[in-house]
Amino acid sequence: MRIAVSACLLGVACRYDSRSKPHSGVLRMIEGHDVLPICPEVAGGLSIPHPACEIVSGHNPDAGEGRLAVTDAEGIDQTEAFSRGAQVTLDAVREFEAELAILKAKSPSCGTGLVYDGTFSGTLVNGWGVAARALHAAGIPCIDEEQAEAAFPHASSIGG
Ligand code: SF4
Repeated sequence: MRIAVSACLLGVACRYDSRSKPHSGVLRMIEGHDVLPICPEVAGGLSIPHPACEIVSGHNPDAGEGRLAVTDAEGIDQTEAFSRGAQVTLDAVREFEAELAILKAKSPSCGTGLVYDGTFSGTLVNGWGVAARALHAAGIPCIDEEQAEAAFPHASSIGG
């Protein structure tokens, strides 16, 4: 299977805080598969580290909530970088012909169903990260690391 995976889940230190989020279940389940590491925020030109960002409007594209806007914790509008990163990521994932994307939960780029609400208070709302929604709209199945582990409970053996 051809799988696009959030690079931070693979151990790449590409998060806003210069850290990674390696996930042992994801690392096991991708063994033997063709993997494309993706990081929409790096693709969009954001530096590492950078201030934390959250979607402040347009969290859920299916709910008609209005226009997408993303800001960082310092109040700087980062919508353009996130939109650019989503497009670059979508282009790469399409070229790779990924059949599945495993994306980091709750991220303003990669979140698949839950994201922070834009108040920088740790509050989650229904919604999709900017890149995740682009992949989803293009028909690429998107799941997060927890959903992946639930979908592939015998992950250690599916790659062999
Ligand atoms: S969650 Fe997505 S955008 Fe954020 S560091 Fe991981 S891959 Fe990059």
